[in-house]
Amino acid sequence: PGILYIVATPIGNLSDITQRALDTLNEVDLIAAEDTRHSGKLLSHFGIKTKMFPLHDHNEKQKAQSLLDQIEQGKSIALISDAGTPLISDPGYNLVNLAREQDVQVTPIPGPSAVITALCAAGLPTDKFLFAGFLPVKQQAKISVLTSYKNADFTTVFYESPRRIIDSLKHVIEALGEDKQVVVAKELTKHYESFKSGTAQEIIDWFGEDKNRQQGEMVLMLAPNKEESALSPEAEMLLKSLMEELP
Ligand code: SAM
Repeated sequence: PGILYIVATPIGNLSDITQRALDTLNEVDLIAAEDTRHSGKLLSHFGIKTKMFPLHDHNEKQKAQSLLDQIEQGKSIALISDAGTPLISDPGYNLVNLAREQDVQVTPIPGPSAVITALCAAGLPTDKFLFAGFLPVKQQAKISVLTSYKNADFTTVFYESPRRIIDSLKHVIEALGEDKQVVVAKELTKHYESFKSGTAQEIIDWFGEDKNRQQGEMVLMLAPNKEESALSPEAEMLLKSLMEELP
């Protein structure tokens, strides 16, 4: 049988493609791409002529088995997404899950991902972090997700769209208070790459100063909760259950 390769591609700067990604994309029989027109540009830039097949959220479940059947028959397939690492807020989970169930060999070809790229240069703690994907669009859901990280002792990373960033920053103030420290990383690896840190209000003001700043792809990061508990986790639990017993 063949192999299913999960291939990371650049998130902006084409020079970030890896040698292994190029070799793999050249050698496989088929490239399953989220958007074949978009990826066509990447492939033609590198002179890769491998045939493409569209695999997106809407047809993934339905097409996964036929791709795995082809691998079973000896073909190798590479999965790519529009940018960065497939499956990270991108299609591919159903395919990889099914591949593992059927003992198909899955080989990752690592490379860029916006979450790690943002985190490693933000200046926030990195020893422990949570990648929380996109914030929900609905207001109430947004508040409840943000509130759930109120006592987080780790950095929280969200993907966010430029259309919703201001709204989300306002919700950060509402759910987590005006002192919450935030970092927004924009247009990573691109010409206008920038990092802005401060309170959510300071960042809202920074966006307000220049409308161009509100464009481009961005990552929103929340600093861990500063107030470290002096109690051990066990003592904390005990205290919590005692408090619940109180009238
Ligand atoms: N699979 C991709 C990855 O590994 O990073 C993420 C795909 S997700 C659909 C797209 C989101 O990733 C954007 O809305 C943005 O939040 C983030 N993103 C992708 N490229 C970025 C970049 N160059 N700069 C900042 N954020 C980026």
